[in-house]
Amino acid sequence: MRFSKLRLTGFKSFVDPTDLIIADGLTGVVGPNGCGKSNLLEALRWVMGETRAKAMRGGGMEDVIFAGTATRPARNFAEVSLQIDNSERLAPSGFNDADQLDIVRRITRDIGSAYKANTKDVRAKDVQMLFADASTGAHSPALVRQGQISELINAKPKSRRRVLEEAAGISGLYQRRHEAELKLRSTEQNLLRVDDVIEQLA
Ligand code: ATP
Repeated sequence: MRFSKLRLTGFKSFVDPTDLIIADGLTGVVGPNGCGKSNLLEALRWVMGETRAKAMRGGGMEDVIFAGTATRPARNFAEVSLQIDNSERLAPSGFNDADQLDIVRRITRDIGSAYKANTKDVRAKDVQMLFADASTGAHSPALVRQGQISELINAKPKSRRRVLEEAAGISGLYQRRHEAELKLRSTEQNLLRVDDVIEQLA
């Protein structure tokens, strides 16, 4: 899956709708300190389903919403949309079978986040899985934060293994295993209830 465009609206310093065209080859973002380069990378991670406010350099997730300046009022929502070239049909069948896939995440104050795939409501989990299977995703080692290299050097072996697993594209399987374990546990509970009922009837 190739990313072709990122659109930010009310996200951090990008108060007005801003498009970042991701052309073939290498895309570089240059600018003075504090102009919003890291915010762009965070927007990419956020639309792919990031749940940790700390990874967005905020105290809570609503901190990604434009907080206002001396001349402009704060916004009530932030939205990031990622346009993906799906002409090779690499997106799972649950997503629209179209050449272009638009994933949109919007956060509204006091309401929270909602996701859409080509205008259809989808769950956060579906979006996270889509990118985890594609070996990208909010935790992808392809997205390198400032200070992340030294963090990795000092990390415990378990955390380093997680990076390798993400790069190998198997982190989606861990998520599925976790869900399967939850289902198994609830089925075991149901079976216990059935045993109770049978015992009462006997
Ligand atoms: P550097 O080169 O120093 O790393 P940068 O280009 O990566 O800088 P960012 O860290 O992406 O810049 O952007 C920081 C700017 O974003 C700051 O001016 C900060 O005030 C602004 N900013 C962050 N969050 C919000 C928000 N919720 N609302 C408005 N502005 C915000």
